[in-house]
Amino acid sequence: MRVVSGIQPTGNLHLGNYLGAIRQWVAMQHQAESLFFLADLHALTVAIDPKELAANTIEMAATLLAAGIDPDKAILFNQARVPAHAELCWLLQGTARMGWLNRMTQWKDKAGKNREGASVGLFTYPVLQAADVLAYQATHVPVGDDQRQHLELARDIATKFNLDFGVELFTLPEPFISPAAPRVMSLRDGTAKMSKSDPSDASRINLIDSDDAIAQKLRKARTDAEPLPDTMAALAERAEARNLVTIYAALAETGADAVLAQYAGQGFGAFKPALADLAIAVLSPIRERLTRLLDDRAAVATVLEQGGERARGLAAPTLLAAQRAMGLHV
Ligand code: ATP
Ligand code: MG
Repeated sequence: MRVVSGIQPTGNLHLGNYLGAIRQWVAMQHQAESLFFLADLHALTVAIDPKELAANTIEMAATLLAAGIDPDKAILFNQARVPAHAELCWLLQGTARMGWLNRMTQWKDKAGKNREGASVGLFTYPVLQAADVLAYQATHVPVGDDQRQHLELARDIATKFNLDFGVELFTLPEPFISPAAPRVMSLRDGTAKMSKSDPSDASRINLIDSDDAIAQKLRKARTDAEPLPDTMAALAERAEARNLVTIYAALAETGADAVLAQYAGQGFGAFKPALADLAIAVLSPIRERLTRLLDDRAAVATVLEQGGERARGLAAPTLLAAQRAMGLHV
């Protein structure tokens, strides 16, 4: 079993990223050979500020380390340090079909009406994602719902390549969706997901938020006036209340019904401060580690360089085999 997953180094990580993705990565590094990368090449598909991209890459790497990624267990690196990603991406561009990419909903969403003005990279983005996982013969890829279609495309590209060149080169990666990974919703709107790109900072808890900011955002989180019921089913129509219970359960690493068993009959006046205490207990050690790591950015860069070296070694045989299969080694 080999796990590969990446995250774009844009903006600050929030509680949704942590509970929905990063915490799963931290657990997985103990169970499987794991490669986690900062997708700085993917970040180039929209306008970037080079200084900001470099700083974000280091900050996001530091956040992953603070959250518990252990560079002695998992291989942590930034994509640009491993040229095999971009090289294999080019080799796979002959295999991927325009029609396949045209059907990607993320492309349609992100390009919007301005397809002519979108970067070519935004269109071929899923081919780079395919290269990211195929280069390492990943067996499992932790993905959110939004990335399922791209992983399916990676499987189609791998299948067609193997068939076209008569090789059994690429492993078909399986999606891995942890049952423990909740979908965390916005604190301002229980029907929208918590997101980096939401303009309202009050909608999310960032991993760098102070204890006071966490408590204040939860105190002001949108809710209703009803007390909590004793089952999740009874919260079907109360999206904001459901979200806070889901967050509590995820932070406490217990089930939502166990949380309701404890708080049934109580209102948010009692529940919100308890949730804030719990969130602070989980998040403040991460923030403190992150602050320390950011005091020595060069040390974080060294972790990425060392991870990159291991990743280059793992990707090399597959890249070479792909080149051979395509007649590039004369
Ligand atoms: P953007 O708004 O720019 O898309 P984002 O907040 O969705 O940012 P991503 O970088 O797209 O963050 O996602 C990183 C990882 O976090 C992905 O695995 C994604 O599925 C997961 N994730 C993002 N938001 C949530 C959320 N609200 N709840 C659970 N998981 C989430
Ligand atoms: Mg997203």
